[in-house]
Amino acid sequence: MEKYRFAEMIWYEIRDAAGQDRVAVLPVATYEDHGPHLPVDVDVRLCTEICERAVARIPTESLLVPAVAHGYSPHHMDFHGTLTIGWDTFIRYVKDVCCSLAHHGFKRILVVNGHGSNTSPLDLSARLSNLEYEGKILCATVNHWGLRKVKDLGARLRESDFGGISHAGEYETSLYLALKPELVEMDKAVDERSPLPPSFQYDLLAGSHPQGSVAQLVPYWSSQTASGVKGDATRATVEKGQQFLEAAIEGLIELIRELKATPIPPRRDQH
Ligand SMILES: [Zn+2]
Repeated sequence: MEKYRFAEMIWYEIRDAAGQDRVAVLPVATYEDHGPHLPVDVDVRLCTEICERAVARIPTESLLVPAVAHGYSPHHMDFHGTLTIGWDTFIRYVKDVCCSLAHHGFKRILVVNGHGSNTSPLDLSARLSNLEYEGKILCATVNHWGLRKVKDLGARLRESDFGGISHAGEYETSLYLALKPELVEMDKAVDERSPLPPSFQYDLLAGSHPQGSVAQLVPYWSSQTASGVKGDATRATVEKGQQFLEAAIEGLIELIRELKATPIPPRRDQH
């Protein structure tokens, strides 16, 4: 039985895992409010469970790095339960974890994100890691809702219209129902949408609004939603959650394998 949890390995087993060119999978999330019906650990639980289950199925090809549980969430601080890390500290922290892995010989690192506002800082963490190792590693990032199989399934499975799958909406609530139903208070689930014009709206699975430009605007969360929800939590079910979970696991395995098979292209410095 191949070990796949970094934390449970002895140092030389980690050396050997790097030697086997296994993909280091690093879950990153945050603790923050998720509406009146969900606990504050949604992003952490969903992201780490998806990573754990995916890596467990392909232990000779990948390795589960201990999660970075805290993330970037200052615009959620009006809601109790949010723990946020300074943007620059966060970028450097994740970069340092990735570079530590690279130092030990891991050439392929996949940062799997479970919190929307981590997306921009994590992009920089990964890019800075690639630069620090002068193009000799491949450090990539993905949001679990960005996995192809999740997006494809969402297009078929969802019942809510555009905007129904955002923070604490149909997707996240369904996944939590599949993982820890006893902590979900579905009688308190609401359908609340962004008050912003189309160009500044998004849907986790559908992307930008069909009638808008692809623009970015991130105001304080409390100025956009009273409940903390952006989306339709009332459409969530255990069955959808189970299907989304399986799609996320399969989609992540597919991406790990894609990264593992990607050659590291040599630089051609023209100076
Ligand atoms: Zn979330």
